[in-house]
Amino acid sequence: MTESTSYRRVLLKLSGESFARAGERGISMDEVLHIAAQTVRAVSRGVELAVVIGGGNILRGASFTAGNSGVQEATAHYMGMLATVINGLALQDALESLGAQTRLMTAIRMDGVAEPYIRRRARRHLEKGRIVILAAGTGSPYVTTDTAAAQRALELGADILMKATRVDGVYSDDPEKNPHAVLYRELGYQQVREQNLRVMDATAISQCMEHGMPILVFNYRRDGNIERAVAGERIGTIVGSRRSDEAATRPAP
Ligand code: UDP
Repeated sequence: MTESTSYRRVLLKLSGESFARAGERGISMDEVLHIAAQTVRAVSRGVELAVVIGGGNILRGASFTAGNSGVQEATAHYMGMLATVINGLALQDALESLGAQTRLMTAIRMDGVAEPYIRRRARRHLEKGRIVILAAGTGSPYVTTDTAAAQRALELGADILMKATRVDGVYSDDPEKNPHAVLYRELGYQQVREQNLRVMDATAISQCMEHGMPILVFNYRRDGNIERAVAGERIGTIVGSRRSDEAATRPAP
């Protein structure tokens, strides 16, 4: 029997790397279409979906400044935010080529390209069944799109924040390097912080913890997983306050 919960509104965080072929940078429309097809199937079940898109396949502010002395750190972060808009445009066309209704909204105004992000308007689009793609992060430098995802999940009234990753969930160590790493099924926010587990950045975790926003970390590379996650199937790792931080961490069976 499969345990499941049904969600009404979901915030999905897609990293930029999900738009590139494994080990490569830039955008592969094959990869984008693969994600888009899963997303369209997930939405056809009736859930309202907002997507926060990253930009790491193109540029991350922190690493770009580290490698280039001629650019100010804040400038590099703005460059990273613009990278997320490039990804947002690719995702929008991929989704629309599959028949989905979408809106691209940016936290930095660029009127010829996309709508400005306005919370009430975004909620209206969601109510009308449109997939809302949220680009340019929070619009402010020095944070990442994980923080934008937490922020938007809260203000749009999502039931859950889902983070799509390359691995099956949250592990005790990097599973791509340590074959003995243990996959957790359930974690408390405090455990994530204390054990420094790689879920999302610290600001995003704190925000979710403060407001009780659950986080599901799951593998987007397994076909059908976006649908499964959105349908509430018990995949990946759930981070929340239930049974939370005093309970022992339960490893996967
Ligand atoms: N960024 C930012 N403010 C935000 C969101 C993103 O300055 O609110 C910049 C930051 O430099 C970040 C880059 O945009 O590294 C791309 O986003 P991110 O690294 O989160 O992309 P992902 O790793 O999810 O692909």
